[in-house]
Amino acid sequence: MNCKEIHNKLNAYLESSLDDDQLRDFNMHLDACDTCKKVVSEMELTMQILDRPVKLEADPFMHTRIIAELENESETVKWKFKQVLQPVLLGMIILVGVYLGIGLGNRFYDEDVFSNQQDSEVNLIDLEIDTYANITSDIETFLLSEE
Ligand SMILES: [Zn+2]
Repeated sequence: MNCKEIHNKLNAYLESSLDDDQLRDFNMHLDACDTCKKVVSEMELTMQILDRPVKLEADPFMHTRIIAELENESETVKWKFKQVLQPVLLGMIILVGVYLGIGLGNRFYDEDVFSNQQDSEVNLIDLEIDTYANITSDIETFLLSEE
């Protein structure tokens, strides 16, 4: 066999489909010809790499990671909701405070409670302060709770 024949029979050699005579001639040429020997060994190496089974099985931790990722996503949504909701509620607290403050201020101003305190008037103001404190603490409880 010459070099051209080796190149022609290279695929057959790599597929192990040469008959015994051809294989003997092929190997004899490789022993004598470094160029063909090098080509054949490089081809064999390439074939080994290509034949190596590619690991395609699903990663057993992939499922867990995807689930964790999805849970993080919903945590983020929850957090964003809270981020939007909190300023709204804080605004409401301020409005309630201002409203009650104006109400209490007007009462003191108009009826001069300082100089002429009446028990019923004072009780009413206490009741309003209590109501305000309850509303505020309810909203605070809601805002400070985790869920
Ligand atoms: Zn050769």
